Amino acid sequence: MLTANDPSRKSWIEVSPDSDFPIQNIPFGVFMANDDHISIGTRIGDTAIDLAALHQLGYFEGISLPEDVFLQDTLNDFITLGRPTVRQVRNRIAEIFDIKNTSLQTNKEQQAVILFKVEELQMLMPVFIQDYTDFYSSREHATNVGIMFRGKENALMPNWLHLPVGYHGRSSSIVVSGENIRRPMGQMLPPGADTPVFGASKAMDFELEMGFITNDGKPLGERITTEEAEEYLFGMVIFNDWSARDLQKWEYVPLGPFLGKNFGSSISPWVVSFDALEPFRTTRPKQENPAPLPYLNCAENTAYDIKLEVYLQPEGGEENLISESNHKYLYWTIVQQLAHHTVNGCNINAGDLMASGTISGPEPNNYGSMLELSWKGEKPLKLKDGSERKYLLDGDTIIMRAFCENAEQRLGFGEVRSKILPAKN
Ligand code: CA
Repeated sequence: MLTANDPSRKSWIEVSPDSDFPIQNIPFGVFMANDDHISIGTRIGDTAIDLAALHQLGYFEGISLPEDVFLQDTLNDFITLGRPTVRQVRNRIAEIFDIKNTSLQTNKEQQAVILFKVEELQMLMPVFIQDYTDFYSSREHATNVGIMFRGKENALMPNWLHLPVGYHGRSSSIVVSGENIRRPMGQMLPPGADTPVFGASKAMDFELEMGFITNDGKPLGERITTEEAEEYLFGMVIFNDWSARDLQKWEYVPLGPFLGKNFGSSISPWVVSFDALEPFRTTRPKQENPAPLPYLNCAENTAYDIKLEVYLQPEGGEENLISESNHKYLYWTIVQQLAHHTVNGCNINAGDLMASGTISGPEPNNYGSMLELSWKGEKPLKLKDGSERKYLLDGDTIIMRAFCENAEQRLGFGEVRSKILPAKN
């Protein structure tokens, strides 16, 4: 039972109405407090909650949890416990912080070791990501890129409507929000030239994506079906898959993305569980022409209505909203991605990250990359300060935000924010 999701529940911790973190969210993250104390936590409003301290004080009694499961610097051990245990923990946290529950509410001494102000914390990478896969599941994005590089007739490759295209990315360079990203150096082929040059990328871009984090999967050689897939899902984060388009364009044939992608990707620090996202399920796009092969069949309500925003903030300037998209635009759903990923027997581990691919929508203001927003530089974006952007400049900060709302409630992911540093020659 998902008692934590009860939309009528109120917390004794103050939460502003526009907060991404009402008591119905209960995300998981890793934070450092007082310069050296690292713990797994959650948050309600702007109050962070130390789960290790709660556990030590006996608040999780009756739930089968290893003693040190929250005294870790990543969520991996916790994720390994599986979706039913994570559900019990979320339900219990909701009970403890329910306004009707006075046990911790009236105990100031315990509150002093459990509660922190989020602005006093440093958020750390929440997960040790052993493997990272990047899909390419937005039909609008794949079509736009296809038109730019191959023309309208051949926009979608012949395989695209039959399988969720993906590639294996690099996990070592995934960083948490707040860490800045350095413009990469590399090879590129100038327009009209026959031989490449070496230098700093001139086509630095973001990709608006969401990533899902998996539970432990099945042994190597066994597959996870679309019906089983949801039991293997832990939570989601916002994912900015930084891209250097000029490096990418020159190097990608025939094996796909490499140095134009692996110099950095940024994630939001709070992992929102799939249980918390239950009220925001929606209908996935129809897949009729062609219908996918039977192993990719899945229920219709396997998409999520998550509003996505991208802001560009020039150095010292104000935020410019440059894109508004939605997770529900994805053609291939998360359960289809996971079923496809494992259909050949490929195994997955607790803490693997699988990103959606750039999530673009039908309208030009729904495009999830500079490549599309400026149509490969042909239509520069105009910012409030009068400047223009084809791609990103040094000192630009990209902020991505994601949230869900319906008539009863709102919850979200917070943000992922990073600034572009000049290249290092
Ligand atoms: Ca990507």
